[in-house]
Amino acid sequence: MRVLVQKFGGTSLSTEEQRKLVIKKISAAIGDGNQVVAVVSAMGRRGAAYATDTLKDLVPDAKILSKKDLDLLMSCGEIISSVVLVSELAAAGIQAACLTGGQAGIITDDSYNDARIVRVNPVEIYRELEKNQVVIVAGFQGMTEEGQITTLGRGGSDTTAAALGAALKAHRIDIYTDVDGVKTADPKIVNNAKTLERITYNEICQLAHEGAKVIHPRAVEIAMQANVPLRVLSTFLDGNGTMVANGAAGDTVTDSINDNTITGITQKTNVSQLIIHNPAKDQHVSQQVFKVLAANEISVDFITINETETIFTVRDDVSARAISLIQDLGLEISTHLNCAKVAAVGAGMTGIPGVMSKIVEALTEKNIRILQSADSYTSIWCLVPQSDMEEAVRALHEKFNLG
Ligand code: ADP
Ligand code: MG
Repeated sequence: MRVLVQKFGGTSLSTEEQRKLVIKKISAAIGDGNQVVAVVSAMGRRGAAYATDTLKDLVPDAKILSKKDLDLLMSCGEIISSVVLVSELAAAGIQAACLTGGQAGIITDDSYNDARIVRVNPVEIYRELEKNQVVIVAGFQGMTEEGQITTLGRGGSDTTAAALGAALKAHRIDIYTDVDGVKTADPKIVNNAKTLERITYNEICQLAHEGAKVIHPRAVEIAMQANVPLRVLSTFLDGNGTMVANGAAGDTVTDSINDNTITGITQKTNVSQLIIHNPAKDQHVSQQVFKVLAANEISVDFITINETETIFTVRDDVSARAISLIQDLGLEISTHLNCAKVAAVGAGMTGIPGVMSKIVEALTEKNIRILQSADSYTSIWCLVPQSDMEEAVRALHEKFNLG
């Protein structure tokens, strides 16, 4: 049995017109001799009747609900989407069955709202595939061992598709979305961003971790572990999209298949920088700060410690709480609220001199302040004021000639 997993995102399913194009992709895959398992997101974005965010808005104070009950609500969008698609497939003469995540055998832990897939037991999918050409699976959701419905967090349908691709030993996972592939930057910010023909798992994983929301990093990790090739492509346009697979020599970070130092520019919004002053050079200051934040489940990122300062970022929505916890320790703190993290990502940058110099030059030319920077062997990040973020992304994209 040759299984192809397809995943259709919210924007690909929002109108009947668009769903006709989805049906065309499914039908073409059947024509190519595949047995198709298609994972669907909820239809449309906030405001659309059955989009996940619209459903959430039905309960303005979500804290009133248990996380478990909230998952029950949030899982409805994908289920609706799967049933509508099955009915439209039938009208187009394609016999299909639909399954919830739980029915499809996606078993998760009980971290409601952000559950982890622990195993996949696809017996029901196989049973339906024997009877039908297509099985439609509601994305973004699973079931605990005890049968409770869970959701998988943002980008969860990508993860569903990857987990099914791995479990069914699919020959490929096709992620259909509203752009024609993985690009050198978010096309909503950079209009001449280029579509990458091929990219390694590691490169796309880095891009995704640093904010490129075109695919969820967890999905890439699952596909990579199972060694199932992945493609990102458009529902609305023809074209091959971006092929994600191993590089020539086994996808070590140095064998970028794109002959570029930098693969792409990404951004993450809504972070705040906190600077804790420590003129007495007392290392207990850092210890106290991280301890109190951990105890209050506030996660920190972008950490720099030097003798007289402890610097890090937190998400904007928890910054006020973090600041007051630190002030309660009697420490002196200054802040840059409303920042964004822009990153240049590229497996090929390792050991190449001058990358940082180009980044600083690009941002300085545009009078963009660098509030902090850090690097790993595949990325360089700069923290900038959020109001300058888009210009920073464009400046870096241009400086590295990615367009
Ligand atoms: P879906 O509903 O199909 O899951 P998403 O909105 O989650 O779609 O992801 C697609 C979006 O990702 C695109 O519309 C694009 O704006 C954004 N995006 C961000 N970075 C990139 C990138 N490097 N390449 C392509 N798209 C990107
Ligand atoms: Mg998505």
